[in-house]
Amino acid sequence: MQVIIAENGGFCSGVKSAVDLALSVPAENTFVLGELIHNRDVVSLISERGIRTVSSPEEVPEGATLIIRSHGAGKAVFDVCARRGIRVLDCTCPFVKNTQRIVSRAGAEGKTVVVAGHRDHPEVVGLLGWCGAECFVFSSEEDDFSILREKNVVLVAQTTFSQEKFLKICEILKKECQKTVEIFPTICYTTVRRQKEAAEIARLCDAVVVIGGLNSSNTNKLGEIASRHCGRVIRIADAGAFEYEKIKNLKRVGLILGASTPGWQAQEVLFKMEENNAEVQATTMQDVVDEMGKEERYKKGQIITAKIVSASDEGIYVSASGKLEIMVAKDELDCEAYSKEAYSAKVGEEIELMVTALGPVKLSQKMVKKMKEEEAMLADIEAGAEFTVTCTGTNKGGLTAELGTYPVFVPAKEIRSGYVKDLEKYVGKKLRLKLIEIRKERRKEIIASQRVILEAEKAEREAIKAAKEEEFFNSIQVGDVVEGKVERVTSFGAFVSVNGFDCLAHISDLSWTGVKAVTDVLEIGKKYEFKVLKIDREGKKVSIGYKQLQPQPWDLVRDKYKAGDVVHGKVVRIVPFGAFVELEKGIDGLVHVSQISHEWLENPTSALSIGQEIDAKILAFNPDEKRITLSIKAIEPRPETAEVRTEGERPVRAKKARRSNAQNGEEEEYREWNEGGLGGASIAEMLHLDEENK
Ligand code: SF4
Repeated sequence: MQVIIAENGGFCSGVKSAVDLALSVPAENTFVLGELIHNRDVVSLISERGIRTVSSPEEVPEGATLIIRSHGAGKAVFDVCARRGIRVLDCTCPFVKNTQRIVSRAGAEGKTVVVAGHRDHPEVVGLLGWCGAECFVFSSEEDDFSILREKNVVLVAQTTFSQEKFLKICEILKKECQKTVEIFPTICYTTVRRQKEAAEIARLCDAVVVIGGLNSSNTNKLGEIASRHCGRVIRIADAGAFEYEKIKNLKRVGLILGASTPGWQAQEVLFKMEENNAEVQATTMQDVVDEMGKEERYKKGQIITAKIVSASDEGIYVSASGKLEIMVAKDELDCEAYSKEAYSAKVGEEIELMVTALGPVKLSQKMVKKMKEEEAMLADIEAGAEFTVTCTGTNKGGLTAELGTYPVFVPAKEIRSGYVKDLEKYVGKKLRLKLIEIRKERRKEIIASQRVILEAEKAEREAIKAAKEEEFFNSIQVGDVVEGKVERVTSFGAFVSVNGFDCLAHISDLSWTGVKAVTDVLEIGKKYEFKVLKIDREGKKVSIGYKQLQPQPWDLVRDKYKAGDVVHGKVVRIVPFGAFVELEKGIDGLVHVSQISHEWLENPTSALSIGQEIDAKILAFNPDEKRITLSIKAIEPRPETAEVRTEGERPVRAKKARRSNAQNGEEEEYREWNEGGLGGASIAEMLHLDEENK
């Protein structure tokens, strides 16, 4: 524990004179007016000598000796002593005496005396006894000064009054008073110094112990000032009231003594600390200020080597200069889980720390690690490694981000190929970058490009694709059977991935019987075998077929039908020369118009319609040529016939007949075609014609 003892602590010159005198004069028949000083120990010492304390000169016997303490006393006291033959040992401090002269003169001049001080303080009481005219006491800038508006004022201060408050009161009087204001800054130099030092010590310490009589105005002032700069001020009357527990584990403690506090009180407090096994290093403000000067030479971001001095629950203390100890918070240490014991075992070891803040200096071991990692990363980046950042903002020219402690800038033209209109949409997104350059004008700034990565990847993808295509085209031939996965379908076919290459299976190559939609045959995502139908290497197109690997319907019915069979089917198509009848999926037969009815028909539609189901006889069955010749009339009874001849004409093979119409009772004339009626063309020949049409 470092203990800063105030250099301006202990007896001031005025108090010391009074105490020295009280301790040296013959005690017999000697009295002191009021407590000599506000310190129990000293008062006891004097009392033990036989010097008695009185509150009024009236209590002092004639012919005796009366000590006037350093606070001084009013003129009336001296008058009483003179009248009663009391010998006065005037220990009034010269600073107080000076103030008494000022107020006395002001009173004689009829001016209003204003004392900045505490009304009940003995010094102020004594001063008022010298004013001789109107006088006021103000203790705070918050008092009401309006009464002084029309007065000629002489302002003095209690010698131990707060310098800060006195200055504020001065300002108020200058504004408030409309007549004259004479200001005498009578706060004694030692008080000013002590108050200044108290503030400085308090600023440096974790706690401040202020020692002095609890009724000591100057000591209370010091405590009040210290508390403005330090969160922990311990006010005690003397060393006996000191409790070590209140400062245990603190690193730097200040000891401030009032003007009426003997210097040995500080030594007693130090002794009590050591009794509690504290390792106390007494130092002075100047030492600390000197060390602070060394601290100030640090630069933010500087790496220093420091020695571990001790460890506490909050962190470790290190010494960078061999004297001043600086705490490194446990959160700033490069360790998984902080342990006081583990670091206590490292006392004496040197570690590297980064200065992260100045005044007071803050150090971090983690930042050193981070900095080294960043340096290594920067070396990789400079060597061409890709890195990733999250875009944090934009400026006029591009995107901004941070990589560790380095700012990153991506010019707009380096985001991707082509013009980027909306930069904002990249904010919050990850950017993959490569270094263009590191600008080092002020702090290092990384200028980087995402475009070069994207373009390189695109080129690589295209090269791989070309190589794969080359390999693919080298591996297939027309007629090969390949396995492919259906990736997507369209109205005209399916795109099938064969070894990663998209091939087209046209809808016409999916089924022998024809399909309305691709998905009637193929399912997206499933794998099938296809036959390679066509390869266009230049155009990078491959046509494949599915139906080519499926059995044809005609092969399946080769042994199923034969001439003479009567079959059942549905009319699916009508042409001028006949009707196609579907016997089963993919197997259509033709009923020639002449084979529809025994009657003569001009058009098949006069007897048949699409969708009509009929029975027919197979006249001919040729699976190799995919032909079935059917006849409906062959299974219908031949009507009664009558030969008709027309004079002068070639024999007409059409015969007229009459049959009764059961519905209307009329007879209907009809004609029946036979082969001769086709002008010599055979049905087979006609069917051949039909097949071409088909
Ligand atoms: S504090 Fe100042 S004025 Fe008071 S006794 Fe000490 S030196 Fe004198």
